[in-house]
Amino acid sequence: IIQIRNLSTRFGQFVVHQDLNLEVRKGEILSLVGGSGSGKTTLLRQMLGLEQPAHGTVQVFGEDIHRASAAHLQALRNRWGMLFQHGALFSALTAFDNVAQPMRELRALPEDLIRDAVLLKLDMVGISPRDALKMPADLSGGMVKRVALARALALEPELLFLDEPTAGLDPDLSDSFVNLIRALHRELHLTVVMVTHDLDTLFELSTRVAVLAEKHVIANGTPEEVIAMPHPFVKEFFLGERG
Ligand code: ATP
Repeated sequence: IIQIRNLSTRFGQFVVHQDLNLEVRKGEILSLVGGSGSGKTTLLRQMLGLEQPAHGTVQVFGEDIHRASAAHLQALRNRWGMLFQHGALFSALTAFDNVAQPMRELRALPEDLIRDAVLLKLDMVGISPRDALKMPADLSGGMVKRVALARALALEPELLFLDEPTAGLDPDLSDSFVNLIRALHRELHLTVVMVTHDLDTLFELSTRVAVLAEKHVIANGTPEEVIAMPHPFVKEFFLGERG
């Protein structure tokens, strides 16, 4: 679904990625891990077409997203959803309207169909019609995440990007959010690309892990394969050892 070839990303003189190669396959849950500043979020932004490569290509659904026309790019954007770590919801809109907004903007549907679709999406993430009328500030942190997930799924994407999905959740909420993502991945036949620091989330969800270090992907495989690799960074990250 995604092919990244020989990607270099620079901010001025600062090199974030150098000759990075990565593939995301249909149906997998791929986790990107790496130390702070290793370029995980920037890589996610590259896949969304939000950063410009200094070199190399990023293909999503077979299209080079940096060469796609505006109309093509919009068509691609309709096929993915994104759960951002911060600012996931518009604070001035109810939970319902947060989920309805992408549908109203990008799908010319009558309001009664939108209403049914929004309530269905909210039900999928365990938010009741009553809570749908609340403002984000009146919802718990766990509920805000669920509404944000419903919003990311509003346009029925095939591909879902998650940036630190369980950050800021206590262990119980984190567990139930992980279970929800796993269930939705299966039910909706999603492909998921996620950035996470949380080892429980990583092991619970990932079908594959890509490790970013030294400006590119130094290792990738199942969580069990990756943890067994002898690379110093891998040891430090997974086992807390100093390489
Ligand atoms: P963290 O785990 O801390 O979130 P990360 O692996 O996601 O880190 P990125 O946020 O991708 O790392 O950032 C990689 C590097 O690029 C960092 O050193 C960051 O300061 C730098 N960087 C990111 N965005 C920009 C920008 N717009 N302009 C300049 N430098 C940037």
